[in-house]
Amino acid sequence: MNPTRSSAATRSAGADRLAGLIRESDTVVALTGAGISVPSGIPDFRSPGTGLWEKVDPMEVAHIDVFRSDPARFWSFYGERFTALRDVRPNRAHLVLAELERRGQLAAVITQNIDMLHRRAGTRELIEVHGSIEQAQCPGCGTQLPLEETQARRDSDPEGVPRCDCGHALKPGVVLFGELLPQLALARAEELAEGADLLLCVGSSLEVYPVASLPFITRAAGGRVALVTRSGTPVDHLAEVKLDGDVVDELEAVLSAL
Ligand code: ZN
Repeated sequence: MNPTRSSAATRSAGADRLAGLIRESDTVVALTGAGISVPSGIPDFRSPGTGLWEKVDPMEVAHIDVFRSDPARFWSFYGERFTALRDVRPNRAHLVLAELERRGQLAAVITQNIDMLHRRAGTRELIEVHGSIEQAQCPGCGTQLPLEETQARRDSDPEGVPRCDCGHALKPGVVLFGELLPQLALARAEELAEGADLLLCVGSSLEVYPVASLPFITRAAGGRVALVTRSGTPVDHLAEVKLDGDVVDELEAVLSAL
């Protein structure tokens, strides 16, 4: 027995099954979480002992109250995160989803990630339910500034706080702890989940609202759910198929089986 060959055979059976589900579905929607960006070198902060998140509690410092009361402290933490994300590149898993969209086999990607990697990979119909680092906004006058400009202003500010021309500290375009989710993105995500024949969940443990509710919306509307993730999820028992190997290997296998 060759264990490597045996596991490859298992994987391709699951990949074939998922490829078949994609082929027979009119509307496929992907839902992605931190796991799809781990191969790009972005740690999942929910996993313990991962670099930046080791020394601070993000739920305490990446909080809207800290941004409002102490923007220098907020940006000393969040700016590091911006810098870490500046040079990351999409991996093959992001590229497979963009390729499926180009082929007309994927309607949209809903993501929890703020890292812009789906956009950089070429995905066009993208719903970022936790926002994105792409733009920062001034809470005072509403001015939006792109990431590079925000970084430049942070670098040149004596306190390390990127500021609007009106003097306000800029806020990253991501949903901070203690903030409400963007209602338009949320409504669109729910509408897509409801209209999906197949909801393809990739790299998410599906534990955090709002994404936790989306597979149930798809199922209630008569659609099916497929999982490509290593972690256990609350909807494992509802899934038609679950691929639990490396996210890049699994999605490449699915693409090659289509
Ligand atoms: Zn302003």
